[in-house]
Amino acid sequence: MKKYLFIHLILSSLIIPILVPVLSQADADPETVDHVFCNGKIITIDELNPEFEAIALNDGIIVGLGTTEEILQSYKTEYGPGYDLDGRTIMPGIIDGHSHYMASLFWIGETETIYESQIIALANGYTTLNEKSIDIGEFGWLQSAEQNGTLRLRVNAFLIYNFAWLEDNEPVLVGAWEPDIEPLLDHERMFRIPGFKIYLDGASGNRGFPAMSDPYTQEMMDLWGITNPYGDLYFNQSELNSIVDSIHDSGFSVAVHAMGDRATETILNAIEYALNETDNANARHQIEHNSFIREDQIVKALSLDTIHSVRGYFPTYWQQEYANLYSAVWQERTVNRYSLPGEGLHSYLETDFGFLYGYDEDNWSRSANIRPFLHLWGLVTRKAIDENGTIHEPDPWLAEHEISVEMGLRMLTIEGAYAVKQEDYLGSLEIGKYADMIVLTADPLTVNEDDIKNIEVMLTMVGGKIEYQWANHTFPTQYNTSQTSISIWITLLALSGMLMVRNNKKKILRM
Ligand SMILES: [Zn+2]
Repeated sequence: MKKYLFIHLILSSLIIPILVPVLSQADADPETVDHVFCNGKIITIDELNPEFEAIALNDGIIVGLGTTEEILQSYKTEYGPGYDLDGRTIMPGIIDGHSHYMASLFWIGETETIYESQIIALANGYTTLNEKSIDIGEFGWLQSAEQNGTLRLRVNAFLIYNFAWLEDNEPVLVGAWEPDIEPLLDHERMFRIPGFKIYLDGASGNRGFPAMSDPYTQEMMDLWGITNPYGDLYFNQSELNSIVDSIHDSGFSVAVHAMGDRATETILNAIEYALNETDNANARHQIEHNSFIREDQIVKALSLDTIHSVRGYFPTYWQQEYANLYSAVWQERTVNRYSLPGEGLHSYLETDFGFLYGYDEDNWSRSANIRPFLHLWGLVTRKAIDENGTIHEPDPWLAEHEISVEMGLRMLTIEGAYAVKQEDYLGSLEIGKYADMIVLTADPLTVNEDDIKNIEVMLTMVGGKIEYQWANHTFPTQYNTSQTSISIWITLLALSGMLMVRNNKKKILRM
């Protein structure tokens, strides 16, 4: 008996390793899904599970995350085991928390090019735009674009409450909205209406100037043509209180342009009044630009839990010019805006990008830049590039507010989703969330800091649909599983060939 047992053991030890993979494969019976990406790095923006190797999507939703082996055991696609990332990085699609893509095309009278503008946004990795000031014309276009299926990325419209200028020192209101208009927050919709945009103070030129609590100097007034020494506040405290309160009561969020500290003070008070001790985690009121913000206002913002926009990339070498004009106090206030994410306030990326002043892909010095990874580089290094391509190091007072790449990535993704109550659906790659994601040429978390700005987007998916593919590249190819038999491989090659033809056709159609 012992002899037989011995032979049995030897045989088993030979056979079992052969049988086990076969059995476990048979057991798993992979489920067919729309897409699988494997053999890469998935940056999830989910703090509990920051990284995976592979991801599976079905019906526009993320269904699986894990190692390549785990995902290939559980899922397959009709066209093969899955796309081979070949070590490349996937992250959630970029959410621009403050943009003017759609609106600016209307302003310059090129409504027919709005369709093309989406391609420019998609090619830069944007999958959601929080459009900060949509008028009635743009509203109508977005509604019909959603209905006829030509809206290819998600748009959250903040309806314009007043124009960004004064007439006879009075704000110009936008009276076009139906008095009973309601928020549209359905997550399945490509076009949502979370809030109203209010312009509270000036910016420059005929818009007036940021409203400050200390007066501009005579030198500034002469240099910039400022007429009101304290800048221009469009609504006083009691007017703004009742505006914000009534918008709040209708269930909308407010997004308020506030550059000067006097404007910031007025809107913080108005939000406090409207919240009336309730939680901003429900209301999601947000303040745009925050160009001069005081320490005491940061404390108040933290207590109210307000949400703030931060321009990622800013030509900070300009600051030296400003520094010569500003007092030390103003200098501190204008730098404070960069401290907001580090202070723990909800802060999202503001590109402020629009086509109004033209679109020059090669102009890297422009502040309202479309490039999300230039903004990330700005947040992480606080460096800037001038018109001649020279890179400027940040001054020490600015360098102090550099943030981590991880925090910067959150500002480009989940924080923009939070600002429009979509953090449970978008902004990170988690099972059950929408498959809005991008494939990158490099990993922002490991690439040399100065190369972050050069990262490009190879593929953009919105709701599991490939909406952009980098021209002239062979990616994606099918993952080569060594277990796959030759006959299956022949089928796969044929299928992937068909798919490539289909994708090429798509690309041609989009040119
Ligand atoms: Zn703007």
